[in-house]
Amino acid sequence: MAEPLKIIFWPDPRLRRASQPVKGFDIKLRELVSAMLELMRAEKGVGLAAPQVGRNIRLFVMNATGEPGDDRVYVNPSLFDPEGEETGEEGCLSLPEIRIDVVRSKTLRITAFDLEGKPFEQTATGFPARVWQHEVDHLNGTLLVDRMGPVARMANRKLLKNLEERYEKEHPTPPAPPPPVPPKRRVAPRKSRK
Ligand SMILES: [Zn+2]
Repeated sequence: MAEPLKIIFWPDPRLRRASQPVKGFDIKLRELVSAMLELMRAEKGVGLAAPQVGRNIRLFVMNATGEPGDDRVYVNPSLFDPEGEETGEEGCLSLPEIRIDVVRSKTLRITAFDLEGKPFEQTATGFPARVWQHEVDHLNGTLLVDRMGPVARMANRKLLKNLEERYEKEHPTPPAPPPPVPPKRRVAPRKSRK
């Protein structure tokens, strides 16, 4: 791959976009997935969604146990049949150091496609179901900051401010263009009579 993948951080606007369905199940997709799995492992994450590496497509990878054999890939996922509720602590690689309690459905069914474009279906309860919901949130442009109540927002305001400052530093606003020159009033040339 031309450029190594990098995690992008809140408040990068790319994290806010609703992602588009994956259409091509090709070598490019497989390369992206293997790079995402590698990055997720390096960053000690349990899940990573494509928008977090600046790709606005409906794809996420996860590994709920940390065991090498437990890598999972979900392309164009949909969640169904939520049952029950559970509060649990979540973090996000795009919001480093922030951890908040989020209420999620306890049990869910997911349908998705694998890397060959074959559909599959799974059901999970507890932690894997929580990861699915967190990652599908990413595909819809929803982040942990949107799941924060006023208390969590207050508790994390310093960390959020630091992230905003870091983003502004890395993405300086270009200087404003000079004000437009007011158009000169056109005076209709008079026809001179001689
Ligand atoms: Zn996340």
